[in-house]
Amino acid sequence: MPDFDDLLAANRTFGENFQYSGFDGVARAGVALVTCMDSRIAPLEMIGLSPGDAKIFRNPGGRVTPQALEALVLGVHLLNVKRVLIVPHTRCAVASNSETDLRARVAESAGKDASWFPINVVADQKLALAEDVQKVRSHPLVPDSVAVGGFIYDVDTGLLDHVV
Ligand SMILES: [Zn+2]
Repeated sequence: MPDFDDLLAANRTFGENFQYSGFDGVARAGVALVTCMDSRIAPLEMIGLSPGDAKIFRNPGGRVTPQALEALVLGVHLLNVKRVLIVPHTRCAVASNSETDLRARVAESAGKDASWFPINVVADQKLALAEDVQKVRSHPLVPDSVAVGGFIYDVDTGLLDHVV
């Protein structure tokens, strides 16, 4: 099974210098981040954090889905989360294409019908962000003491714009 050989070789090197044993799994900096799966985003580095500091939940678009809320509630109550950042980004595929377009591209790549496949596109990114922030702020299991902010990450400058 050669598919993963390079990654496993890198992992052995990682293990030789492993620095994170003994971590307890809480967010040491009290931070949770919901952001997109986009490979241009370095979620810890962009806010000056390191492994161990934050809980990170990623999905296409950086949306507050039921699973993201599950992660945030667990984070707040069991894992030291005190600040939540919701971070979609500029030039995001799910915020700049229609579901029809993305489905057509998937269908073309797959060589088969994808019309049945749901893709959650974002029509208005700032509106969606405001709604997502409100979902967290108003959640019955997220206390008012938790700071919740909505930001848009600029993939060309590396900067966060605090939107809501
Ligand atoms: Zn994205």
